[in-house]
Amino acid sequence: MDERKDRIEKEGPKGERGLDIKSLTLQELKEEMVSRGEKAFRAKQMYEWMHGKLARSFAEMTNLSEDLRKKCGEWYEYTCLEPVRIQESRIDGTKKFLFALGDGNLVESVWMKYKHGNSVCISSQVGCRMGCRFCASALDGLERNLTPSEMLDQVYAITLLTGERVSNVVVMGMGEPLDNYENLLRFLKLLTDENGLHISQRNVTVSTCGLVPEMRRLAEEGLQITLALSLHGATDEKRRSLMPIAKRYSIRELMEACTYYFERTGRRITLEYSLVGGVNDTPEDARLLGELAGKGRFHVNLIPVNPVKERNYVQSGNEKILAFKNKLEKNQIHVTIRREMGRDIDGACGQLRRRYSEGGRHA
Ligand code: SAH
Repeated sequence: MDERKDRIEKEGPKGERGLDIKSLTLQELKEEMVSRGEKAFRAKQMYEWMHGKLARSFAEMTNLSEDLRKKCGEWYEYTCLEPVRIQESRIDGTKKFLFALGDGNLVESVWMKYKHGNSVCISSQVGCRMGCRFCASALDGLERNLTPSEMLDQVYAITLLTGERVSNVVVMGMGEPLDNYENLLRFLKLLTDENGLHISQRNVTVSTCGLVPEMRRLAEEGLQITLALSLHGATDEKRRSLMPIAKRYSIRELMEACTYYFERTGRRITLEYSLVGGVNDTPEDARLLGELAGKGRFHVNLIPVNPVKERNYVQSGNEKILAFKNKLEKNQIHVTIRREMGRDIDGACGQLRRRYSEGGRHA
């Protein structure tokens, strides 16, 4: 850690190091090469090294001349996240990664193995400013947005560290992705680009606490990704007690934005509902949620709340969770309970980072 800090200081603060080359589209990279007096086809070669072969430095790009590799090192910033901690669950093989960014900030990503393939959950911001009451990422507010390359490199670094292909990506780690809209969009395009890792858009999910204008904007981007809406309450009052953002947008506005998303993309929306013991898990809550979900093409994903040390929320009991699910199913709602992956390794988003920053690294 200290060694790395030294290096960052020598290199100077972020931003002075030139253009963030891993965030450029192939077309932009072509233009960049040409403007530097290089041949346009160099761009294709470099793009393949960065996004296909997942090179960790310009030095690896052996079909470029030594001279060009050296110049690139001077012109550009080459984003590569460094793993500072990796935890593996003994229960289900889930791995949690704590990565250091170039400026020393830390983000978390999670790797989950499912029957249908490997899934990576990435962070979109350092911290978060949405302030949801049960969430660990929101405790210290927002530090900064992640760049597209910092989002991408979570997937790239994990692919290299596990040696396995990633088939699904969910933007459900730290941060509110739609609060970092431009960078998110660029990330989505690069991630699903046929010249890169080419992850299918249908295998990418973006989860939002419900920023209505950005949800509508996303509907118009011509993407086939899945949108997940964190609802957590079936009335405005209950939602407001858990999520400050609910004071800005009503459930009605959210449902209208979901309908619009479905109309424009044909993609069914996931409603996420974290069950908090004694807060939003009554039969009446289930009835109201069923009513809302019955009005559109939704899939409901129930998440037993992950207790966070700093918050005094508790999980609903198993029986309550099952009763809640049954009630929805009786109303013909498509519902699943999210399997709790990696419970033994600081499962809830933001917890590993907090522990590490509090001195847990010495534990
Ligand atoms: N900002 C995005 C992504 C955040 S995390 C969003 O709000 O959707 C992904 C999901 O985990 C969200 O539904 C979030 O509300 C939920 N979540 C956060 N902390 C949790 C906790 N301690 N227990 C259960 N779910 C939690």
